[in-house]
Amino acid sequence: MGLSEIEPVELASTLRDVQKFDTEILSIRREIAVLEDKHHLGELSSELEKARASLAEKEAELEDLELKQHKLDGELALLSEKISKEEEKMMSGTIMNPKELTAIQAEIFALRKKRDEMETEDLEEMVALDGLRQGSLEVSRLVEEVSSGLEAAREAYGRELEEKEGEVARLEAERDKLKVRLDPDLIERYEKLLAEKDGLAVVEILQGRSCGGCRIEFSRTQIDRFQHEEGIFRCEYCRRILVK
Ligand SMILES: [Zn+2]
Repeated sequence: MGLSEIEPVELASTLRDVQKFDTEILSIRREIAVLEDKHHLGELSSELEKARASLAEKEAELEDLELKQHKLDGELALLSEKISKEEEKMMSGTIMNPKELTAIQAEIFALRKKRDEMETEDLEEMVALDGLRQGSLEVSRLVEEVSSGLEAAREAYGRELEEKEGEVARLEAERDKLKVRLDPDLIERYEKLLAEKDGLAVVEILQGRSCGGCRIEFSRTQIDRFQHEEGIFRCEYCRRILVK
């Protein structure tokens, strides 16, 4: 079928159908544009980022404290060794000088006091370490939870995106089958309007008298023309293509 052979009534209905497809396509494209938000991908990503940062912080804190405790344990071991040596010296019976013995006793006393303090500190650190380990465990569970949530959301997003893109491709193919029947100049005009008029290039003449796009009522002469002619018209106000 040649281009010139298309009847005015068919031309109008073809354009109307092309517009219908494009309206549907546009609506799906708008859904695609907000699909990431719909699946909260941005929110979940930043939540995961925060949880990971918090975990890294906790782990660094834990590492510091473990190092500190390790050092303290080493110091405690040295101190205990020193105390044992002093005690041995005192008990050995080789020191007869009472002044010297008193001095050693005082030294042992001071060292024991120091050891008690360090042991208290050590205990406190162990409690703090337990708390940190617990906290770190909780945050690492949160990281896992958010991470698997994000993964699930990404999968759901991917499935829906694929579905919608498939639908767009199907509609575009249907639309293009109709479009080949139209004159290239008309297609150009249609596409330009589609872009300029927010996706609405072809509109109906409402009740035979006003534009379905801009809603302006036509003159008597125009209305008569619509009644007696077939095919497509043009709104002199918004320039959209009019169909009956
Ligand atoms: Zn109009």
